[in-house]
Amino acid sequence: MQIVCPVCKKKTTWEENPWRPFCSERCKLIDLGKWASEEYKVPGEGTGEKGEKEKKETDN
Ligand SMILES: [Zn+2]
Repeated sequence: MQIVCPVCKKKTTWEENPWRPFCSERCKLIDLGKWASEEYKVPGEGTGEKGEKEKKETDN
């Protein structure tokens, strides 16, 4: 079965391909890197909300 690598759009095969659905280890690492950088942005917003909640409790 022929597939197209979602990273570099190069044609590759599904069978006997350890990096599927990518064409190579390089493309697999590029895709994993995208997810890692998106996760990195999340923690900053969470800590801001927590700080506000603690402030309200001390006012009471
Ligand atoms: Zn590729």
